Amino acid sequence: MPRRCIIPVSNRKGNLVLLLILLAVSAATAFLFWPTSEQALQPDSRLIAASENLDEYTYSLRLDPAAKTLAIEMDLRMQNRTGTTLGDIVLRTYAGAYQLLDTSPAASRDLFDKSYPNGFSAGGLTLQEVSWQDKVVSAAFDDTAQTILRVSIPDFGSGTSGRLKLRLVLTIPECLGRYGYYDDTWCFGNILPILSVFSDGAWRAEPYCSIGDPFVSQCANYTVHLAVPQGYTCAASAAMRSQPGVDGSQVYDGRAYAVRDFAFIASSRLAKVNAVKNGVLLSAYAATGKEARLVIELAAKSLATFSSRYGEYPYPQLTICAVPLPFGGMEYPCMLMLNSSFFAEGMGDSLELLIAHEAAHQWFYAIVGSDQFYQPWQDEALCEYAVLQYVRDRYGVDAYDSLRALRVDAPMQESIPSGITPGSPIDYFTSMNEYSSVVYGRGAALFIALDTATGGILPFLKLYVKTFSYKIASRDDFESLLNSWSGQDLTPLLTDYLDTSM
Ligand SMILES: [Zn+2]
Repeated sequence: MPRRCIIPVSNRKGNLVLLLILLAVSAATAFLFWPTSEQALQPDSRLIAASENLDEYTYSLRLDPAAKTLAIEMDLRMQNRTGTTLGDIVLRTYAGAYQLLDTSPAASRDLFDKSYPNGFSAGGLTLQEVSWQDKVVSAAFDDTAQTILRVSIPDFGSGTSGRLKLRLVLTIPECLGRYGYYDDTWCFGNILPILSVFSDGAWRAEPYCSIGDPFVSQCANYTVHLAVPQGYTCAASAAMRSQPGVDGSQVYDGRAYAVRDFAFIASSRLAKVNAVKNGVLLSAYAATGKEARLVIELAAKSLATFSSRYGEYPYPQLTICAVPLPFGGMEYPCMLMLNSSFFAEGMGDSLELLIAHEAAHQWFYAIVGSDQFYQPWQDEALCEYAVLQYVRDRYGVDAYDSLRALRVDAPMQESIPSGITPGSPIDYFTSMNEYSSVVYGRGAALFIALDTATGGILPFLKLYVKTFSYKIASRDDFESLLNSWSGQDLTPLLTDYLDTSM
């Protein structure tokens, strides 16, 4: 749309000066805020407040595509919030699992052929040095998969602070998925070493299952510097500012506030489109600019719908990246990975629903954390329910009824082994289909039943998000807030839907 000139035509000399001043001001403003540059939009005061006193991760990363390695230096400033003196700290190093066929989450029966089209490709993790308070300390993996790194430290008193540093090198597998490279697109989801969660007197140490998302983490602040060869773009959980490195590399810098993890993708192949929608910088990466623009349009619709339903999206940006994946998509804080095959002809509706599901995770996983290992329904079923509501809001009751028949009613009719329920932990499930039917489909039925029982749970979901923003809500937290909000004992209904075999 052409711009209109608002300066009157009389007094031309004065106008010229005014015009020059306006141009100078707008150029300066554009430099600071122009959304299509690499400048990040600034977090607002509420997000800054949420980020205060959180642990601080700083990572210096170097990707070498020729050697297929990522060198990682982590510097973590953390506080002991466990209420007890610690003698060790556990970091989750999920990338380790990709070393062996037996432990790789991408090597399951469901995923192997899609993840490793050229046969199994071993990743690797070489730990170089760990230090605590600037002194080298010992560290060892609890598990064969090398995903649980236990660092021995002198007594670390409750309420005190410390600094943990780590150097390691990853060998990157050729693998389609959250982690790995394919066709010069390099995905790094759940690979930065992060603190495990301390609960019930111990560090959590669940295995990296191939089904579901076995990740639980607290919110923290992340500063990331990534060096890549010239010609590579970087999509990430923060807006990344780029500058030439000293050695001919390109360095991307970004900072994310109050997030549970930090994912990133480097690629020489992806086109990028930026747009600001409702104050949020949307950055889309896809094979073509046309696809990226479509992603922007659909992501903006999802963000608008969910912001009005569940509370305003609190982060300054959202990155959406279409990459080769063996499943539909994967959510990260401020970032969605989408399966690029969803751009195929005739997949428009599926792409929109995929983006809606993954975008809903920004509220149910990223803003409100939950136990994704033992209570996967608490984010997945809620996101499916959110997609149904999105469709009803946008396309009406008939579209909602059709989608509900397909994604909720049909799973209720399926034959599922006894003992497998929506409330089961992820390691109970034996296939992706079983997991999605039970946790997504049957789990979403719980929220529809809650709508009927309460006259509508939208106010509850708003309250749930507000109450548990940047925290981890347990199932008990969910139940007790629900019961107190509704003034009813809904625990039997939850038990019926979540814990009862059909
Ligand atoms: Zn999901």
